[in-house]
Amino acid sequence: MARVYNFSAGPSMLPEQVLKTAADEMMEFGTTGQSVMEMSHRSKEYQAIFDEAEANLREIMNIPDNYKVLFLQGGASTQFAMIPLNLMNKNKKADFIITGQWANKAYKEAARYGEARAVASSADKTYSYIPKTTAADFDKDADFVHICMNNTIYGTKYNELPDTGDVPLIADISSCILSEPIDVTKFGMLYAGAQKNVAPAGVTIVIIREDLIGNAMDFTPTMLNYTTHADNGSMFNTPPCYTIYVAGLTFKWIKEMGGLEAMKEYNTKKAKILYDFLDNSKLFKGTVVPEDRSLMNVPFVTGSDELDAKFVSESKAAGFVNLKGHRSVGGMRASIYNAMPIEGVEKLVEFMKKFEEENA
Ligand SMILES: *Cc1c(COP(=O)(O)O)cnc(C)c1O
Repeated sequence: MARVYNFSAGPSMLPEQVLKTAADEMMEFGTTGQSVMEMSHRSKEYQAIFDEAEANLREIMNIPDNYKVLFLQGGASTQFAMIPLNLMNKNKKADFIITGQWANKAYKEAARYGEARAVASSADKTYSYIPKTTAADFDKDADFVHICMNNTIYGTKYNELPDTGDVPLIADISSCILSEPIDVTKFGMLYAGAQKNVAPAGVTIVIIREDLIGNAMDFTPTMLNYTTHADNGSMFNTPPCYTIYVAGLTFKWIKEMGGLEAMKEYNTKKAKILYDFLDNSKLFKGTVVPEDRSLMNVPFVTGSDELDAKFVSESKAAGFVNLKGHRSVGGMRASIYNAMPIEGVEKLVEFMKKFEEENA
C-alpha cells in the first residue's frame, strides 16, 4: 500500500492513527460485538462514545459551560440559513465581512431573512487580504456580525478579530477548527463542517452561547432550530453517528499531540517551510499578503497557466495529489491541515525546487 500526500481542501487527510484505530475497531467496537456503524444511537454504548467526544472537544477548545456544543447535519452551508433563522430575530439586521465565497454565501442566505449588510469586502483584490474594520463600522443594533475565520479557497485568515463591541461575533471556522487555540468567549457562536480538519464529511460542529438559543423565527423548520438540538443533546433524530465517532478519535489524537498550543506550533512550522520557499522562489509565488496568510490553505501560482497545469500533473505523478487551485483562483493550492505530516510539506518543497530548476 502506498499512501499519497493528499493536499485536498476537503474532504481531506485524516491522521493515520485515527484511520488505524477506526480500522481496528471496524468489526467490533470494544466488546460490543458490533461496529459503531451498526449501533443504535440510543444505546448506552453509543452514548458513551458521543459523551466522550463532546467532553474531549470541550477540553481541547476550552469551551465554557455556558456554551452548547451541537453535532448537526447539513454541512456548514446549512448554518448559513440556520444562523439568520435563529439569531436575526431581534432587530432583523446583521453585518457581514466578505472575505471570499463562503463568507459571501452566508451573507446572501441571511439577506433572504432580514437586512444583511456587507460591512467590508476584499473582492477588489480577489480576496487576497482581510479587510480592516473598526468598531464604528458595525451597526450597534445588528443581531450579529459574521466572519469566515479562515478562507479555504483564498488562503487568508483573521489574525486579529474585528471589534464588534456588544454585538455577538459569529465565525465559520470550517477550515481552521483545532488548528490553533481560539478564545471561544470572544464569540457568540462558532461552527465548522468536519471534513477539513476533524472527520469524514457528515457532521457540523456548532458551539453556541446559551443565551443566543431560543429566539428563532416562527416559521423556522423544527430541524433548523438550535433549540431542538440543544434540548435533545443533538439526538432529536439520528445524528451522524459514525462521523461523530471518528471526530472523537481525532479529538483524542489532538490531546495526545499536546493540545491546540502544540498543534499551532506544529502547523506554524509546517506552513513556514512552504511560505519561506514561496518568498524566495523565482518561479512560484504566494497569492496572499503576508500578514493575513492562512496556516491551513496555501495558494500559489507560477504566473503561467501552462506551467501551473504542468506542475499539477507532474506533482500528481510524483505522489502529491489535489494541488490544483480552486477554479475561481486558478494556480495551485496546498491544504496542509493538522493531519498533513511535516515530511509531506518538506517533500513538496523539494519537488517544487526541482520543478523550478527544470522550468526556469
Ligand atoms: C468547506 C467550507 C464550507 C462548506 O462546507 P459544507 O460542509 O460543504 O457545507 C463553508 N465554509 C468554509 C470556510 C469551508 O471551508
